[in-house]
Amino acid sequence: MTVITRFAPSPTGMLHIGGARTALFNYLLAKRHGGTFLLRIEDTDKKRSTDEATQAILDGMAWLGLDADAPPTYQSRNADRHAECALRMVEVGHAFRCYATPEELQARRDEGEAKRAAAKADGLSEAEQQSLRAEADALLAPYRSPWRDGGDPPAPDTPYTVRLRAPDQESMTVSDQVQGEVTLNTTEIDDLILLRADGTPTYMLAVVVDDHDMGVTHVVRGDDHFRNTFRQLPIYWAMGWDVPEFAHVPMIHGSDGAKLSKRHGALSTLAYRDMGYLPEAMNSYLMRLGWSHGDQEIFSMDEAAKVFDLADINKAPGRLDLDKLGDVNAYFIRTIDESRLLHLVLAEVANLTDASDSLSERLQQALPTLKERGQTLPQLAESCRFLWDSNADNLNKKARKALREEGIKRVSELREALDLSDSWTIEALQNVLESYCAAHTLSMGQVGPPLRAALTGGLPAPDLAPVMYWLGREEVLARLDKHLPA
Ligand code: GLU
Repeated sequence: MTVITRFAPSPTGMLHIGGARTALFNYLLAKRHGGTFLLRIEDTDKKRSTDEATQAILDGMAWLGLDADAPPTYQSRNADRHAECALRMVEVGHAFRCYATPEELQARRDEGEAKRAAAKADGLSEAEQQSLRAEADALLAPYRSPWRDGGDPPAPDTPYTVRLRAPDQESMTVSDQVQGEVTLNTTEIDDLILLRADGTPTYMLAVVVDDHDMGVTHVVRGDDHFRNTFRQLPIYWAMGWDVPEFAHVPMIHGSDGAKLSKRHGALSTLAYRDMGYLPEAMNSYLMRLGWSHGDQEIFSMDEAAKVFDLADINKAPGRLDLDKLGDVNAYFIRTIDESRLLHLVLAEVANLTDASDSLSERLQQALPTLKERGQTLPQLAESCRFLWDSNADNLNKKARKALREEGIKRVSELREALDLSDSWTIEALQNVLESYCAAHTLSMGQVGPPLRAALTGGLPAPDLAPVMYWLGREEVLARLDKHLPA
């Protein structure tokens, strides 16, 4: 059997990270089995679906590299097929035309609420209360239509909905790859509307027909859809279709255990890109948020695709932990191809200063060392600031102190020694510093601070020899000159 999975977002908003994780699990499951990963845009809610949201979903998935194996399917384009299936179910007796009007149904609910309230009134006997409660329960129970076994319309042209006849058996069991076996009494299921009075298909029908037509073998989705499965299964049965495997994945919660909201970072997937996270870090972090394989913390997509298994999805909700995401991102910043990292950091640096060839050259040389210094791309760019900014006009207290008389004298002497150095390599520069210390019987602790203050004005920077090497002779001398008397 070829495994076919799908991600089926409704384009009513951004692709949030919970959705991205669902897409990722479907993607990995398909890859694990050499199968097919499909994308279906569930755009049947015309009022709430937007082209911008569809685009945001496509962009988010493209950024994460979750490429579908076929162009996306748009659910709204299949409406005729959905209606055709509903009518087929009527023909074979699993569905029926229901002539109840929305007003009648509302009146029934109102009456149920009224009886429930009446049962609480003072002065009623226990028996009276019980009987009112029973009447209320019957009226508020999932709707079973009086037309479920057929029957003529009240008038020849009465509008109707098409409903699925809910199963009569006592209980129904869904065997879910994550939730296990869950049984529900079928009295909890109503006679589901398949086609509205205007002939349009409902979401519940559309999902099942599309999953069948796309050959989906595994439905992996958020557990907010778990109960829907009990309403969708009877559609498969009525159509005589194979039922796919289901896996309902627990939601992502915030660090405090509450349902994820904006406050916790329930942002769009692309907002994480804009905050300077790498797609491989997002994928690695998201897959571990709800799935595990041994105690391995970090996965490349290829590694995960070799071992991904629905059986390893946790039953408990994952908690979003931005510190951990930062650690994972730092790991990928350290390990991705350096030319790609340079490209990404240059884009960040362009937000802070004017780019130039010499700056890009400095960054290229410095990044292998500096890439250890940030959890996100903007942090990393900021930690490279000393490469273009001498901070001379903004010295911090420590730098000012280091550049008092004695310090200036050392900077001046060092400038001379540096200027005389034939070679400008890290090793040669280290030698200049050490020879200067030796010649003046000074320690590096006495020489380093004024030189560092003059070069970077107190901005964080690594060892002085590499810093001077990256900056280049001309820039180093110019920075020192700024602090020396003319
Ligand atoms: N369109 C639904 C959603 O965005 C998903 C339906 C499904 O996966 O079956 O929540």
